[in-house]
Amino acid sequence: MTEILRGAPVAHALEEQLAARIQHLQTAGIQPCLVSLRVGERVDDIAYERSAARRAEKNGLITRQIVLPEQVSEHVLLETIMQINDDPLIHGCLILRPLPSHIDETRICAALKPEKDIDGITPSSLYAVFAHQNKGFAPATPAAVMKALDHYQCDVAGKHVVLIGRSLVVGRPLSMLLQAAHATVTMCHSRTQNLKQLTQEADILIVAAGHARMIDASHVRAGQTLIDVGINWDKSSNKLVGDLDFEAVEALAGAVTPVPGGIGAITTAVLIEHVVQAAERIHASTLNAV
Ligand code: NDP
Repeated sequence: MTEILRGAPVAHALEEQLAARIQHLQTAGIQPCLVSLRVGERVDDIAYERSAARRAEKNGLITRQIVLPEQVSEHVLLETIMQINDDPLIHGCLILRPLPSHIDETRICAALKPEKDIDGITPSSLYAVFAHQNKGFAPATPAAVMKALDHYQCDVAGKHVVLIGRSLVVGRPLSMLLQAAHATVTMCHSRTQNLKQLTQEADILIVAAGHARMIDASHVRAGQTLIDVGINWDKSSNKLVGDLDFEAVEALAGAVTPVPGGIGAITTAVLIEHVVQAAERIHASTLNAV
């Protein structure tokens, strides 16, 4: 029978582990604090900002939301990031993206202090992921995929993982995390030929392409583990769907993540873990003295 790999148990297990660490910080007089930085009023950004803040507060973190107008200048945005960098009460910063087109996003990402970069957007965080160094923070979504695989005891070592999508937010860093865990990774993208042949060869198929239901029964083989990172609004059914055609592949798969309620449900818990870890690193000497 197909195992449904839901995100909620993964997130809850992670939060249970974090409770003692948050308590330890608080006992030492440290209130771990997550700040989100949003430019404009994009509905997706507001929803993500709210869900991250809600979960963070539920776990005892302090949150702050900084909102700048859509037309904010790059200069003002950079100054705001400098203030976040210099504020000793802020431990982690989530910059909601994409930023408006008049802003140089690469420059903005690079301005954030790596110690506070809980979503792995700075060059040094990404370098650490690519160099398999255990410092900085991996981007939250790839880290959430690794948490899910770990929680459901899906050992990737030696397995053939086929990964669709090569963005800097999901696909590329995820391929590095998988390789650090000794998977053999095949990367697919929009120019890949024989996609169906490759997806069928996978032990584990991970899809992060951003196309509703693009992977159907003809792409998969019985017994595979299928991980769906995609989040797409399907106008025909008026609901959120993944990149997998879930109804078509569910019966064939050995295990499969749903959308919604799969990887997306783990991402904010990972962000909280990163804030806690950032606070622990910043206040290491204080914590050792407690
Ligand atoms: P991007 O659009 O940046 O990247 C999509 C990738 O998929 C590209 O590498 C692209 O190839 C590839 N691709 C697109 N179409 C095809 C195709 N037909 N066949 C093979 N490859 C294809 O998207 P993101 O990486 O930012 O996001 C991917 C999905 O994950 C989206 O649905 C997004 O909403 C979701 N997401 C979910 C998160 C979560 O928390 N669960 C967080 C972040 C994203 P090429 O490089 O050649 O263009």
